[in-house]
Amino acid sequence: MNALEKEIRALIESEGPIPVSRYMALCLGHPRHGYYITRDPFGAAGDFVTAPEVSQMFGEMIGIWCAEVWRAAGEPAKINLIEFGPGRGTLMVDMLRAAKVVPAFRATIDVHLVETSPTLTERQRRTLSTSDTTPRWHESVTTLPAGPLVVVANEFIDALPVDQFVKTETGWHERRVGVRDGKLAFALDPAPFPQIETLLPDSARARTGALFERRDLTPVREIARRIAADGGAALFIDYGHTQSGFGDTLQAVRDHKPIDPLQDPGEADLTAHVDFEALARTAMQAGTHAIGPVTQGQFLRNLGIELRAENLARGKDAATAAAVEAALARLIGPSPGMGELFKAIALVHPALGGIPGFDT
Ligand code: SAH
Repeated sequence: MNALEKEIRALIESEGPIPVSRYMALCLGHPRHGYYITRDPFGAAGDFVTAPEVSQMFGEMIGIWCAEVWRAAGEPAKINLIEFGPGRGTLMVDMLRAAKVVPAFRATIDVHLVETSPTLTERQRRTLSTSDTTPRWHESVTTLPAGPLVVVANEFIDALPVDQFVKTETGWHERRVGVRDGKLAFALDPAPFPQIETLLPDSARARTGALFERRDLTPVREIARRIAADGGAALFIDYGHTQSGFGDTLQAVRDHKPIDPLQDPGEADLTAHVDFEALARTAMQAGTHAIGPVTQGQFLRNLGIELRAENLARGKDAATAAAVEAALARLIGPSPGMGELFKAIALVHPALGGIPGFDT
């Protein structure tokens, strides 16, 4: 049993079974044993590969998208380019390089990174040391400066903890993590969860056995409030469902394979699908418009990724050209590619003109 499991068991012993969100937050963010706190999990040698790590084309398309947002926002003299959960910093360097195509935009950018992991902050610092920027790091949205902003977040929301609720014959009950037969195990809280109506207005329509996931979207709400106040837009790319629904999407991935989410806490990536309908609702309540979601494949094609791939492969040897082609298929193609499962959504200030990428 690892050190984090010992701590979690001690917690359960003193407080009883813990909410799934608490378990998830401990696994990912425990100050000593959390998954993101202790390691750089990305890449072929790590646990999973994200889109920016597949190819520079991903970040380049998003850099161009940011420049278009800046234009649509009336070309403000200063703009905060903010990334949430920047991983290795790859997406940001690729975006900044692509932004040079629009020098007036590039000159207005202040870079801010919101990251909770000291290990990954260090990694981002190294990656960005080659770019001509002076990024600033933040642990949460609260310390970000005021002013027009463009926010980007890839595979960030899926790491925000979810709570789970199950409908039984006796009503809705919270699913928690406890100990059974000497092992961590899910168990329903025996007391009903009467506040379900505030989280799920049509909860009465759900069938017995339905599982409802609810994520605390405070960072999204705060970002949307700032956009509504100061102008700009945010782009979230993640995997998930377009419409709210039911089902257990909590998943753990280690060494590129799914494992039991309760096995070896803190040693696997733990995520749950993004409910894009809930995300859009949160953003609209905070005063922005929500555009999309569209699939990642559609979004990247709309921004011209196929042409970019052609240019990258032109005049190169066959192996390089094949690698570009394979990366393109992985980014925009259907499963096992990321093109359909992953989706993009934009939150934009109501006064903003057309935002590219979202035509269907
Ligand atoms: N965007 C990167 C990494 C995605 S993994 C990529 O596409 O490669 C999730 C990232 O979010 C990691 O950098 C992780 O440390 C960070 N993270 C997780 N929870 C966070 C939180 N609550 N606040 C800020 N960053 C967080």
